[in-house]
Amino acid sequence: MEKKKTILTLEDENEADYSAISGLCELLIKTGKNYDLSKIRRAYLFARDLHSGQYRKSGEEYISHPIAVAELVAGLELDTDSICAALLHDTLEDCGTRVDLAAINESFGPDVAALVDGLTKLVTIQFEDKEEQHIENLRKMFLAMSKDVRVIFIKLCDRLHNMRTLEAKPDDKRRMTALETMHVYAPLAHRLGMQRIKQQLENLALAYLDPIGYREISDDIERRHDLNKDFLARVREQIHDRLTESGLEFLLSGRVKSVYSIYRKMYEQNKSFEEIYDFYALRVLVNTERECYEVLGIIHDMFKMMPGRFKDYISNPKPNMYKSLHTTVMGRGGIPFEVQIRTHAMHKIAEYGVAAHWKYKSGEESPDDLDNKLAWIAKLIETEDGTRDPDEFMQALKIDIFHDETFVFTPKGDIITLPQGATVIDFAYNIHSEIGNKMVGAKVNGMIVPIDRVLQTGEIVEIITSRSSRGPSRDWLKIVCTGEARTKIRSWFKREKRAENIIIGKAEFDRQVRKIWPQCNEAQRSEAALNVSQRFGFSEPDDMFGAIGYGGISLHKLNPKLTEELERLAKAAGTTTSQPGDQQQSDQKPRRHRSTGGVIIDGVEGCQVKFARCCNPVPGDSIVGFVTQGYGVSIHRIDCKNVRMSMSNPEHQDRWLRAVWDSDPNEKSGRAGAFEAALTITAIDSVRLISDITYALADMRVEVIQLNKNKNGTSEVDVHLNISCRSVEHVNSIISRLRGIRDVNRVVRSGYVD
Ligand code: MN
Repeated sequence: MEKKKTILTLEDENEADYSAISGLCELLIKTGKNYDLSKIRRAYLFARDLHSGQYRKSGEEYISHPIAVAELVAGLELDTDSICAALLHDTLEDCGTRVDLAAINESFGPDVAALVDGLTKLVTIQFEDKEEQHIENLRKMFLAMSKDVRVIFIKLCDRLHNMRTLEAKPDDKRRMTALETMHVYAPLAHRLGMQRIKQQLENLALAYLDPIGYREISDDIERRHDLNKDFLARVREQIHDRLTESGLEFLLSGRVKSVYSIYRKMYEQNKSFEEIYDFYALRVLVNTERECYEVLGIIHDMFKMMPGRFKDYISNPKPNMYKSLHTTVMGRGGIPFEVQIRTHAMHKIAEYGVAAHWKYKSGEESPDDLDNKLAWIAKLIETEDGTRDPDEFMQALKIDIFHDETFVFTPKGDIITLPQGATVIDFAYNIHSEIGNKMVGAKVNGMIVPIDRVLQTGEIVEIITSRSSRGPSRDWLKIVCTGEARTKIRSWFKREKRAENIIIGKAEFDRQVRKIWPQCNEAQRSEAALNVSQRFGFSEPDDMFGAIGYGGISLHKLNPKLTEELERLAKAAGTTTSQPGDQQQSDQKPRRHRSTGGVIIDGVEGCQVKFARCCNPVPGDSIVGFVTQGYGVSIHRIDCKNVRMSMSNPEHQDRWLRAVWDSDPNEKSGRAGAFEAALTITAIDSVRLISDITYALADMRVEVIQLNKNKNGTSEVDVHLNISCRSVEHVNSIISRLRGIRDVNRVVRSGYVD
């Protein structure tokens, strides 16, 4: 190597220096974006010098890894700083004390330094094969520690390259890395909508976790693809011709689904390979949303639609921003296949997710769960147009998604989630109330800290306890920020102040007795106290008084039992609790027989309710319940033809129950839009018919559950449609819109008696 160098000119030497990143530079130039190549070259030289003498397990020079990661990052078309950070990402961790953040900051600026720092910190998160909750926290922590979305993108590329080269690692290391990839990295890529990276990660991980299963499925896919090659080619040609005829500008491609997605279906839904019919998918890319529905109409016109397999992710996008139309249809030879229809813009997002495009918008609310948070980033990082202010663009990447949460470790590596501002005391009570009550001090990252210390994400917290602790101090109530800690501290005081609580509780009890039965004597009151306390599960009345004293038993809970006891005692004494002229009100309201599903049924309480498929009742319809054998009560519309028939059958007569919709808004919430209605549309057939219907529904944000077109023996066709709706008013508004579609002659709800 040395020898070679001496015979090169200075210029040649430079060229030789950069030959390792010539592929990377080509990729960057191809994007057509304005990359600072000289900065990227400097970053490469910087990393190469630091990694010199280091080798990967495969025997390659270490620098090959950061270069490969930078190439993947270039594939996402991230900015210059991201490329530099990718090249430098392992310099802090793997090169020991030879370099520090300050040096990177000096040479490449604070942005690159922050990215490299973020990437290095993520290494400290240790994955262990644990339960789902732990893994979910791990994902959150990962995001919280990233601080900048670019850190996640680069980290995913780093992981992808590590997975591609995992073969060189020892066996146990491979398994752990593959598991971590499957449980932490792939789901994150999924939630960020980065399908392309997600699928590669899943497939690579599966190949290590279940090599036999992986091989079996990929062989099966290959076999079946060979078998159906002619069929699929024919179908593709047919679609191609029809779309060309219609004058659309489109891109048609076909692909076999990923090994992992089929693996999951087989094992999670317990299906055989033969039962998974949509192993093959055709994809049609068009220019506009309107054209997507047009193509859908053409596809449904050409092939028979498989019931329940139509998904409109354009009007109902997935939380990760995925938009597309999916439908599974049956080819002429009876072989089903899936068709995905979307615009080019939607496709880019489907492949690269949040990384595809961005623009900053302020003033958005930040929602609670992880999916919503990521969707929120997605919303901030708008997707539709290419115009963006570079400053705003940088801002958008530095969203602190978990600004309201803090993630810290226990000494064992468990992750504890606390609200922002949580202190050491909050942490202690989160672990266990006894840890909190016995706490005398704490260590953060190995150093003793005051117990009112506010915790930061990523810190390791250790609580020092002592048996001789005299318990929490009242001041702690002012320091803690979680309700949990406050409640636990209070309850400690309640326990400690038992004598006082009993006195307060007994006074309250006596007051209630006087209210219910003013004539009650001392002996009767004692007997009532004993009986009621036993009914609450206490061994003596003092325990109950104590509980009443600190609020553990509310009057709301006490009074019904106390009233019953006093009434019993009064009766035994030949009198009643309520005297003539008393204003006493009975607490018992007339009983409502409420059941699940927002329906009230006469004479039945809390039973299972289902909605009949023959008439699909929705709120607002007149309904009636039928007691099924073993499946609860089935709700029909009163005008359902099955009801007419069954009611005339004497054997069924006592199985019909009166039913009404529960108008209580609290009961209904959460079920809004959850009802299914069936419609029959009669129309003159045309190529546009299905696409017009689908488009009208999408425009009204109505979810389609099923859609089928049948010839009805006349010159017209019947379109059977199942949709999701909220109420009868909602259905009626949908019907009237559908009636306005050209060539549509009639729209009715299915299952009526005419
Ligand atoms: Mn790396």
